[in-house]
Amino acid sequence: MNEAQPLDLLIIGGGPAGLSAALYAGRARRRVCVVDAGQPRHAVSAAVHNLIGLEGVAPAELRRRAWSDLAPYDVQRQEGQVLGLSYDGALWTAALAGGSLRAHAVLLAVGVVDLLPDWPGLDATWGRSVHVCPFCHGWEQRDRPLMAYGQGDHLVPFATMLSAWSRDLVVLTGDAPLPEAEAEGLRARGVVLRAGHPTALEHENGALTGVHLDDGTLLPRSALFLGVRQRQTALVRGLGLEAVPSPVNEDGDVKVDGTGRTNLPMLWAAGDLCSRMQQVSAAIAAGGVCGAMIHATLSMRP
Ligand SMILES: Cc1cc2nc3c(=O)[nH]c(=O)nc-3n(C[C@H](O)[C@H](O)[C@H](O)COP(=O)(O)OP(=O)(O)OC[C@H]3O[C@@H](n4cnc5c(N)ncnc54)[C@H](O)[C@@H]3O)c2cc1C
Repeated sequence: MNEAQPLDLLIIGGGPAGLSAALYAGRARRRVCVVDAGQPRHAVSAAVHNLIGLEGVAPAELRRRAWSDLAPYDVQRQEGQVLGLSYDGALWTAALAGGSLRAHAVLLAVGVVDLLPDWPGLDATWGRSVHVCPFCHGWEQRDRPLMAYGQGDHLVPFATMLSAWSRDLVVLTGDAPLPEAEAEGLRARGVVLRAGHPTALEHENGALTGVHLDDGTLLPRSALFLGVRQRQTALVRGLGLEAVPSPVNEDGDVKVDGTGRTNLPMLWAAGDLCSRMQQVSAAIAAGGVCGAMIHATLSMRP
């Protein structure tokens, strides 16, 4: 590492956003390196849904295909973690465990950190029968006994939407009951409301069978749709980036303009770290915009 010739573009994160940007920039004859720690959010999931042309592909297979698409271009692959980034007014330098990389432009495509509860049974069920997104897994769980929990202010719209996939839906409202008008709207859709919090999950080989509540009840359920809190990765937190408030991400979403540019010079961001539409297709689209715009920006430099 620490090559004499700086890269045109350093992409940090080899998920859908980063690899899509790499394809655009590679095909634009840019010298690119993708550094990836290899832990995409959906790694535990069996299949990626809502991806036209590749509906149901396994996450690892999607990554394998994306890397194979990049083979003809000048895109290096580096496994590892970027520990820090600094800018000297002309170039970015990324610190890695084994050295450093310099680049004219950087794309942050590092995703987010899901702050998962420590319930017994969650490790085995996460991504299999405990889901974050009805669009991703509502179809597979349709007409089954479902539970929704933990969306803060978004619990009501989340549960209302989820009721389209199953009429057998229990919404756990935590400590405080919902305002009556909202509760009535959910009940009118056949939704059952209950106070309380989950404490543990029962399952058979990852398939949820029941949710233990803090009042001692065990509720038989086949899937739990969970509003997970998130935060930014340590790398992003240390950069002093502007953020926009987020109902989910404790650090806010990284603020970008319509081209994915952040408030720091020659630094772009794409994917879950700056998006409320946390989907593979949206990350691919955002990464593509960044790849194109970074090429355009570099091309117009004197
Ligand atoms: C359980 C689950 C299932 C899902 N299912 C679907 C689905 O079916 N359909 C759908 O559209 N969406 C789904 N999603 C959402 C989808 O996974 C994300 O929207 C998508 O992965 C975001 O892509 P990304 O490139 O922004 O981030 P990620 O895919 O999370 O990739 C980020 C990459 O950056 C790496 N990284 C992080 N920090 C560093 C660092 N400092 N240095 C180097 N590398 C770093 C990570 O290891 C990771 O490989 C699911 C999410 C979850 C949690």
